[in-house]
Amino acid sequence: WQQVLSSLHEFYSEDIFDEIFSQLSNVKKHSGGYIYVIAPNPYTKSRIERLYLGRINHIASTIYKKELVKFKFVLAEELIGETSLVGPEKNLEHKYRHGDLNATLSFDNFVVGKSNRFAFQMALKVADQPGVVANPFYIFGDVGLGKTHLMQAIGNYIADNDITKNILYIKASAFIEEFANQLKNQTIDEFNEKYRDVDVLLIDDIQMMSGAPKTQMEFFKVFDFLTQQNKQIVITSDKPASELKNIMSRLTSRFEQGLLVDIGVPDLEHRVEILRKKLTTEAPDVNDLDLNVLEFIASYFNTNVRELEGALKRVLFYCVTNNIDISIDTATEALDSLIKTRKKTAALTENNYDKIQSVVSDYYAISVHDLIGKRRNSKYTLPRHIAMYLIKNKYNIAYKTIGSLFGNRDHSTVLAACEKIENELKHNNEMKIAVDTILKKIEKYSN
Ligand code: ADP
Ligand code: MG
Repeated sequence: WQQVLSSLHEFYSEDIFDEIFSQLSNVKKHSGGYIYVIAPNPYTKSRIERLYLGRINHIASTIYKKELVKFKFVLAEELIGETSLVGPEKNLEHKYRHGDLNATLSFDNFVVGKSNRFAFQMALKVADQPGVVANPFYIFGDVGLGKTHLMQAIGNYIADNDITKNILYIKASAFIEEFANQLKNQTIDEFNEKYRDVDVLLIDDIQMMSGAPKTQMEFFKVFDFLTQQNKQIVITSDKPASELKNIMSRLTSRFEQGLLVDIGVPDLEHRVEILRKKLTTEAPDVNDLDLNVLEFIASYFNTNVRELEGALKRVLFYCVTNNIDISIDTATEALDSLIKTRKKTAALTENNYDKIQSVVSDYYAISVHDLIGKRRNSKYTLPRHIAMYLIKNKYNIAYKTIGSLFGNRDHSTVLAACEKIENELKHNNEMKIAVDTILKKIEKYSN
């Protein structure tokens, strides 16, 4: 690989080299005529495959004159199944049951903490008595926080208790596609039969249906038919039903009649627990991994459980293939490129939220401490609400995330604040001027 790298250096500019090739880590794995190289993310991987793979394999053929050797670019998590790290149970992941239910996503391996306790408890109840407790059961939250996992756990639990139950899991995007195919091929009967015959319908990422009104109409019929017969429907979404855009209100109001639960971001302790659990299933032969290493990983990957898991797999893979002990030092090496990019984005965004908070508190002559604090005098609440509104408008991050920047206020508090300011701005000229002035200051600050 070093030889290939130095040849590549001659072909490509320093910029491309830095951006693409310097981020790859060599893997001393060589099997079936392939040498594996780990790409730091899917984007880099696909760029290499599209743009550079031909050149790389050509260079390889000049280096390995006799053998036929090719390079393969993979993500760390893709390779893990191929190492001795993982026992046979890992293959379960590819064993799907009805529809696309993935048997490895269970309640047992869902780690419960403050951010998901209520959602978990209600999911268990729904799974225990499908069609009785809450219909539909609607789970929302940001990406990578366990919505699909929890939904599939419900399906698996019901399937385990009663094999006669017909459980169907489908992503909303696939439902749209099926509906379109049904129109094209005139297979409406088949389509109807499939969806009217289910006992439990799990529909993932419903927000994908926005802007597909015909599909929504059809889904409404399915929804209506199934709920009338008390068949359980579970829905996931990246936002609460009331905030879904371009989804007919006939549907959203029905969603709101069910039970809505949200999943938030796990705190540090919870994240460490998730890593610990993963370790016991992913790498049972790695015992007594230093708690500090887990905390180290958990401290960097703090917004998305999928990324958190990916980081752990990467560390395990790196240390096992290079035959080195797992420590904070080696974990840092393994995660080097990921941490660098994360630091960059984190620094950027956090500073900007900070900036808005400090400009607003400056403008109203209060401290940032009071801006995000608990005091309820309008002297503090007005600037607080304006700052929330500005962050929402500028970055469009989840209300819950904004709440966490203001002393852990909840979703609905932030939502109400933003709406209040938005309405006020329609007729309150004085406030408009204030907000414009603040915006200008923020711009100036940013440059
Ligand atoms: P979402 O659907 O919200 O984007 P997923 O359910 O796909 O997120 O979760 C992403 C990954 O994180 C999955 O591999 C899932 O198993 C894992 N995960 C998320 N939350 C938990 C949890 N509380 N305990 C264990 N694993 C979790
Ligand atoms: Mg999902």
